[in-house]
Amino acid sequence: MDLYKQLLTYNIKPSIQRVAIMNYLLTHRTHPSADEIFLKLNKSMPTLSKTTVYNTLKLFAEHGAALMLTIDEKNVCFDGDTSPHAHFLCKKCGKIYDLPMASSAKEVMEMKSDGHLITEVHNYYKGICKNCLKDINID
Ligand SMILES: [Zn+2]
Ligand SMILES: [Zn+2]
Repeated sequence: MDLYKQLLTYNIKPSIQRVAIMNYLLTHRTHPSADEIFLKLNKSMPTLSKTTVYNTLKLFAEHGAALMLTIDEKNVCFDGDTSPHAHFLCKKCGKIYDLPMASSAKEVMEMKSDGHLITEVHNYYKGICKNCLKDINID
């Protein structure tokens, strides 16, 4: 699906900058921060400001086109994958990994919502990732 249409389905008015930011999110599944996206896109779009990137990402999150992750208090991250999944933050290298959501969280989403409409579920795990664990074992 082309990105212009995709943004429209979320009621977001597509602009060249918004499409570029969405494209970056969908092609970089590393849960980038606004700063990271700004630094990467600013090279080809010198008129793009950091504020625009942040506001666009917030807009995406508000419209359900992206997820806003607050797993790392110091660094808000964004995810173009809006399907329900959990996130794991490595305290050593700071990388965020995708993990399947625990079945209890899915249950809450599906039936135990007590009449509330749940539109977002955040599952955060923290620890040390497998790559960092390898380094620890070598020492
Ligand atoms: Zn790590
Ligand atoms: Zn994710």
